[in-house]
Amino acid sequence: MMKDCIFCKIIARVIPGHIVYEDEHVLAFLDISQATEGHTLIIPKIHRNDIFEMESSAMEQVFSVVPKIARALKETYGCSGINIVSNNGKSAGQTVLHYHVHLIPRYGDDKFGIRFVNNMEDYDAEKLTALKDKVKKNMQ
Ligand code: AMP
Ligand code: ZN
Repeated sequence: MMKDCIFCKIIARVIPGHIVYEDEHVLAFLDISQATEGHTLIIPKIHRNDIFEMESSAMEQVFSVVPKIARALKETYGCSGINIVSNNGKSAGQTVLHYHVHLIPRYGDDKFGIRFVNNMEDYDAEKLTALKDKVKKNMQ
């Protein structure tokens, strides 16, 4: 447990959380901001700041419960879709430094929006090949 981490405190029941699922390794609870109704966070019980600190085993534990929780949200709230989002690093919008995955139910008429910018015209095959070759060198 990290002393100043708000999510570690929810895990330890030091502060309240609206917990919807718990097992040995993972906790899921309602996000206090409710970007859409049913907005849920899934976290590893082990403190990791972000994706860059996550080992595969902790990741497997987190993601192994995603389908179960996604289906429960769909069944319960009648959403027609779900966005699964994880912000990692300040530039990506991460505000709580305990790794988490957002499950954001979508209802068609909600106000939530994720839109990808398309920069395709700036990247030809040669440029993509160079990008691919460079990152492959750093794959461990
Ligand atoms: P992020 O910006 O990806 O780091 O998301 C952090 C999320 O944690 C935000 O959506 C907050 O609404 C949520 N959050 C912060 N404090 C709490 C809390 N005590 N209980 C539930 N959710 C929280
Ligand atoms: Zn923590």
